Amino acid sequence: MLKRGATQVLRAAKSRASSSSLSTTVPSRLTAACAAGARWSAGSRRTAASAAALKTHEDAAELLFQALPPILPDDLPIVSADERRVAIGWDTRTWSRFHNIWLRDHCRCPKCFHPVTKQRLVNTFEIPADISPMKVEAKFEGLEVHWPETERHISLYPWNWLQQTSYDPKIAPKTERKEKILWGSQILQSPPTVTYYEVMSDDYGVYKWLSNIDCFGFSFVSDVPVTMEATEKLAQRIGFIRETQYGKFWEFTSDLSKGDTAYTTMALGPHTDNTYFTDPCGLQLFHLLSHDGDGGATLLVDGFYVASILKELDPNAYELLSNIPIPAHAAGEAGALYRPSPPGGYPVLTHDRVSDALAQVRWNNDDRSAMSHLDPYVVEDWYNAIRAWQRLLTSPDSEYWVQLKPGTAVVIDNHRVLHGRSAFDGKRRMCGAYIGVDEYTSRLAVLTEKYRLGRGTKADDGSAPARSVWSPAL
Ligand SMILES: [Zn+2]
Repeated sequence: MLKRGATQVLRAAKSRASSSSLSTTVPSRLTAACAAGARWSAGSRRTAASAAALKTHEDAAELLFQALPPILPDDLPIVSADERRVAIGWDTRTWSRFHNIWLRDHCRCPKCFHPVTKQRLVNTFEIPADISPMKVEAKFEGLEVHWPETERHISLYPWNWLQQTSYDPKIAPKTERKEKILWGSQILQSPPTVTYYEVMSDDYGVYKWLSNIDCFGFSFVSDVPVTMEATEKLAQRIGFIRETQYGKFWEFTSDLSKGDTAYTTMALGPHTDNTYFTDPCGLQLFHLLSHDGDGGATLLVDGFYVASILKELDPNAYELLSNIPIPAHAAGEAGALYRPSPPGGYPVLTHDRVSDALAQVRWNNDDRSAMSHLDPYVVEDWYNAIRAWQRLLTSPDSEYWVQLKPGTAVVIDNHRVLHGRSAFDGKRRMCGAYIGVDEYTSRLAVLTEKYRLGRGTKADDGSAPARSVWSPAL
């Protein structure tokens, strides 16, 4: 029963991700929802689906192990081997097959896999191409394989690891699944927020903060002291600040001190930053320090939400945005000329090549270079596609406008959420920082191990439990 229920939750979340509904998310209590496991009470269909997604996000780690019934001591899987493969019968209908060469290569005994560095030690290229086990045996701990080597070599593969890594057939997602919660303009009712005190006082606060960003693509931090120094320390709670041509921890006003429209009073449409980099920054943090004029509202748009709508309404446009690369440049400073590598650039929508899930949005129409690579037959379709995309990005259903105030910082996932601003007058001081995507995802993964997967078990010295060589991340 438990297994079936969990599968249904996963399906509900999946169908939500591709829902054609144009109604918006109506959250009632989004604050720190991911980490705290809050439930929403508002009653729209979309919200119910999103709550299911939330549950799935919380339970992702357990789901992997529930994909098949647990292994019981007196009901072990049936195992057999031939000259090419080992077969494991999980139940009467579900079998996994692993090639002998694959199993030998994936031995994680201390001779074959360094238990501390988590690096492969076995010489893959010395394994005979036709290797085949002398004996395979089902033990309570896992599959035991005896290899015909001059030195006796026995490998033991835990059952749940074999289920997670099963490729013939695939049984469970290879990596732990994290559900995103897509949102439209109604997020304004209760946007995800943590306090400065929470984030600065212990790592659980950082975990709540990064879980918000992982779920929603952004999170506010309230009660931040209104100084550059405090804001910089806040950014450093996530990881190294990424230095760019704009500096490391930067402050900007409308003085055109850098050759970019960010340094003017002009309105900026929804965009992601660094489309001209090979590796656009993962997160960016903004904190308004002061403003003595009018305007300058901040715009946030969930690019994944808009992409999910475009996919339903205009699949051809979605395909073009997913396939046609866009060259881009940052060229406003005489001393710099940035373009992505390879120079052809990247499409607006990038998908994970394994799961096919949308992974990254890159969009800044202002920084787009000459489209000299377009197939002549696709030019008009491509312009129609970006017009449809821009229309959805700028629809009132998608736009979340917020007037930032000193004391509230916002962190945005620059691979998902687009930002912009309205025009303003007066003097406006904004400070902020970029953080690389790898620093962000590594910090989140470690905190997830500590607070969700580690289940609070700590080593004697109070440090986080040692990472297992069988972690699904390795
Ligand atoms: Zn080994």
